[in-house]
Amino acid sequence: MNYTITHSTSIVNGVGNYKKYKNGIADRVKLIHFTMNYIIKHNLIDFCDNINIHVKPIKKFYGLYYHDIHDRARVELNVRNATSTMIRTILHELKHSEQYKQDRLKVIYDYKRKSWIDFWEGNEVSDRSKKYEDYRNLPWEIDARTTEKYAPQILAEYIVEISKNKELVI
Ligand SMILES: [Zn+2]
Repeated sequence: MNYTITHSTSIVNGVGNYKKYKNGIADRVKLIHFTMNYIIKHNLIDFCDNINIHVKPIKKFYGLYYHDIHDRARVELNVRNATSTMIRTILHELKHSEQYKQDRLKVIYDYKRKSWIDFWEGNEVSDRSKKYEDYRNLPWEIDARTTEKYAPQILAEYIVEISKNKELVI
């Protein structure tokens, strides 16, 4: 499974508030590569091929998943995420990619109702409220959270890895 990692120019150039993330971006990229390689090696998630993982500043979210009508897949990760949060978010967003790839989650435009309708395993999930609690209870969110259980093991192995290279700063 192929993937690419990119990051926003505001981080690279250290513009404004993101000056402090400039030096950390190489570590973020290393962590994402490590997590992706772990997921692929252990066959944890069947995510979409050629997925783009983009690191940028995001307001209010740890990460976001985008899937377009051409099956182009993109994960956005918040550059501010702590190491454990970053791993958990990658697992979570990749699970959404698998849901689309396996057609468990589908979004279809209904011309009569002039709105996008979500389908989960063939059933319409129409009542999308804006409340956080309702969002948490959406079936694809409950399903995506199940993969987060792998995060502690990945974190433990990542710490071993960076300790080996004597890069661990305590
Ligand atoms: Zn989610």
